[in-house]
Amino acid sequence: MEYYDCYAASYAAAREKFLAASAGCGGDVRSFVHPDRTAPGGAPLAIEVARFGDRRAGRQALFISGTHGQEGFSGSAVQIGWMSSGGPARLPSGLGVVLVHGLNPYGFAHFTRTTENNVDLNRNFVDRSAAPLPANLHYETLHDALLMGQWTADENARVDAVLAAFTEQHGRDALFDTLARGQYVHPDGLMYGGHEREWSNRALEAIVQETLGDAEKVAFIDWHTGIGDYGKPFFLCFNEPGGALFARACDWWGRDNVVGVRPHGMERPSYTGLVFHGVQRFLGNREMCGAVIEFGTRGVAMRRVLRLDQWLRRQDGLDPDLRAALQADMMDAFCPFDGQWRADTLASGLDLTDRAIAGLATW
Ligand SMILES: [Zn+2]
Repeated sequence: MEYYDCYAASYAAAREKFLAASAGCGGDVRSFVHPDRTAPGGAPLAIEVARFGDRRAGRQALFISGTHGQEGFSGSAVQIGWMSSGGPARLPSGLGVVLVHGLNPYGFAHFTRTTENNVDLNRNFVDRSAAPLPANLHYETLHDALLMGQWTADENARVDAVLAAFTEQHGRDALFDTLARGQYVHPDGLMYGGHEREWSNRALEAIVQETLGDAEKVAFIDWHTGIGDYGKPFFLCFNEPGGALFARACDWWGRDNVVGVRPHGMERPSYTGLVFHGVQRFLGNREMCGAVIEFGTRGVAMRRVLRLDQWLRRQDGLDPDLRAALQADMMDAFCPFDGQWRADTLASGLDLTDRAIAGLATW
């Protein structure tokens, strides 16, 4: 199996590869088709769910790709690779695997990190029964200054200076937390968590109800890119530190990889509204253990790419050649074209998948 058998160049191709791979190894597939949005060219947008192993077992694995749209090319490749390399046939008895492909299909298809409403889906799962929505007071002071007028070196230098001044006053950790934790006020801003639940959020609740109804123990991976060393996995475990589930994640993936790790060398932001939190809530008091697993790309330089993503979302009528050039840069940032990066992340993703399944089997 070569990396290019698994890595696709478009959402449509990724979806096709995913469906072909699951058909080739006996997966039960169900598609959740987006009711009113389409891919470029009018093709359907859908979240695909493929099930393997014992559908009624109390132990189930839930592996998700495409929460952050364009980051999904990598997670999708791992899912496709797992199916194509005989993963389902190797499953131990007494457990099932649920693959969720393209949780944010709009972002995946349109080469952006956010949803059809410019919502960061991985900040959208706040508990909306418990008002008010989380505040991000520092972000309020920065939002206007962070909006790029034009995509130029001068404008980027201006914003970088604003961030440097903030860092001077509050420190790097506070800046990272402010930019990354999520905000619920500015729909045109960074890490906007949304005023209401996104379609993908509701679809995931339906998927959890349908596929994990009998589950008592759930192994969870949400595949992302952008944090960590180039081509290497980086773990963000959101089980309670010091608790039994956190210890279990350490057993699966290595204590040194999970405990006290610092994204981009900084303190981990207090992220709000994660998919991880949402699935935990959907499961009630049933146990879930797992992590967001990132593959590193450009390190802290991703900050500029996130701005580019937001700027491009606001540019109707941009010269097509300029758009293509900037989108190529974004693609290379979220999913490097470098074949070695793709081969390494695929191999690593398959290994981490197998380790989670082995851990689930003996849980
Ligand atoms: Zn992400």
